[in-house]
Amino acid sequence: MKSKSEGALLIIAIIAGVLIYIAKIILDIISSFVETIVYFKRPILIVILSCIGIFLVYKIFSFFYFKSIRFKNIKDSIKKHTTNCNNLNQYIQELQYSYVNIKSYNFGESKMIDDSNYNFKRKEWSKEVKDDRIHHCSATVCKNASIQPIKYFCKYFDIKKNEETLSNFEKVLNDFTSVEEGKILLQKERDLILNSISKSIPSLVLFFSKNELINKLGFEAIDFNDLYIPIFTFQYVSAGGNSSSKCDIKLNIENLNKLINYLNDIIKWRKSIAGQRALMTSNLREKIKDRDNYTCCNCNLSIKDEENLLLEIDHIIPVSKGGLTSENNLQTLCWRCNRTKGAKIGILKKL
Ligand SMILES: [Zn+2]
Repeated sequence: MKSKSEGALLIIAIIAGVLIYIAKIILDIISSFVETIVYFKRPILIVILSCIGIFLVYKIFSFFYFKSIRFKNIKDSIKKHTTNCNNLNQYIQELQYSYVNIKSYNFGESKMIDDSNYNFKRKEWSKEVKDDRIHHCSATVCKNASIQPIKYFCKYFDIKKNEETLSNFEKVLNDFTSVEEGKILLQKERDLILNSISKSIPSLVLFFSKNELINKLGFEAIDFNDLYIPIFTFQYVSAGGNSSSKCDIKLNIENLNKLINYLNDIIKWRKSIAGQRALMTSNLREKIKDRDNYTCCNCNLSIKDEENLLLEIDHIIPVSKGGLTSENNLQTLCWRCNRTKGAKIGILKKL
């Protein structure tokens, strides 16, 4: 025991010695560097030091500014608007989960055991991932999927070609479009609010600490990434593990429009129910908004009253209650009315 602790002490002493030695070298380098600058470039040193000084003074100033009563009053004066922005922000974040409800058919789970004698791993095998959004396939299927993504997505991810699936994807398209439009409108609205108070805020703060200012005024951060958009992958890894390829299909708004048109063509071909039914694509969304004069059919608020109002398309009789996607069953609602309506239906469903 004794020899063990002595050994540990010795190691610590050696490490400490080495660290002190390294620290000394670094200090020597810094001091000789400073000495050189002082000797040759005194003006540069003065400029650097005054920059650091100004920066520190500014930091102290902004620290106290954000704590001042003057700033608190500005914050309070726009509280209604920040709350409104934050509500919209939360709403578009909820809409990002739209796809979670749609799942392809679950075929059950099993485990494959490879007990061959030559069970060695090749490097490409490490790329194999098991996920319900990844389909393992031959090189040919992988290549064809990149040529006809929507067709292969439906075929290999078991997307049922029926009215229900079509409606589900139309809802996803609707929600994702609201998310993307919402982000842009939210940013514009925030800039508008900032502009309206910009005269009462010191220009130094506006210029140097815009993000901190937005944060201190109480705006929640807008999430601009598109990680919520599901990606489906066709993956090929050769049996020998020497080669691999993959094809990613992103269900973004462009592909969702294509998917909806594709499903519609097939459903029409099987049974001609399509007569009355319209397709909820990006084009139709715009058409309905235009028809309704960019005005909410419930509260009559329009983009003339609120420049950055997020407008959505709503089924008057919900699809779940047999409502069709036809122009006379569609209306424009502002996001607040749509959110309230959605919540009410949610409560009805629970009952
Ligand atoms: Zn409304």
